[in-house]
Amino acid sequence: MTRILAITAHPDDIDFGAAGTVAQWTGQGIEVVYLIVTDGDSGGHQRTGDAGSMAALRRAEQTAAATLLGVRDVRFLGYPDGRVEPCLDLRRDITRVIRQVRPDRVLTHSPERNYARIAQSHPDHRAVGSAALDAVYPDARNPYAFPELLADDGLEPWTVPEVWLRGGPTPNHYVDVTDTFDRKIAAIRAHASQTAHLDDIGGVLRGRLAAIAEKAGLPVGRLAESFQVIATS
Ligand SMILES: [Zn+2]
Repeated sequence: MTRILAITAHPDDIDFGAAGTVAQWTGQGIEVVYLIVTDGDSGGHQRTGDAGSMAALRRAEQTAAATLLGVRDVRFLGYPDGRVEPCLDLRRDITRVIRQVRPDRVLTHSPERNYARIAQSHPDHRAVGSAALDAVYPDARNPYAFPELLADDGLEPWTVPEVWLRGGPTPNHYVDVTDTFDRKIAAIRAHASQTAHLDDIGGVLRGRLAAIAEKAGLPVGRLAESFQVIATS
């Protein structure tokens, strides 16, 4: 395991969903690359600027949060926040980055709706998860999918052997993030435009991650993030 590509819809998704796990991966010497599909320009709390200034702010916040976790390569596709569809253009744009990065694992949203926690099933999340899975299979590994990527950019096919999905209804893998929880909270706090008004975000997330750990059968006091791990071949 040398490289992991995390593909999410909005700035802050990776930090709420998986920052504790990402911090462990970078601590193990794994290179983690973020691909953020939108700039989160429809988000914000008590915003003062226009959508353009919000987009710039949220890119900066995501880049700062990534740095706190040891992630140095953060890429943005600039799709409009709130209007993402799992279209061919998005599949091609994700396929391009998969072939550039050549990851051993992709982490992305579950395309399935989770009725237990509906905020995890934001339409942009489901669209990005669906397009990312389609990019993993079949597009990135098929030399005849989006042939311009090979012909014009010289991007050879790449097979991603494993995908980790976040936020879906059927997790099957749990990561004990107790030791990296403080860094997760710091990363979430870096998204000040989204979280500055949330006084007890650390307490809320501690409770949420403790419940996941309990479901995973971990000892009392441990904290966990959950995923659905899928083999792609
Ligand atoms: Zn989101």
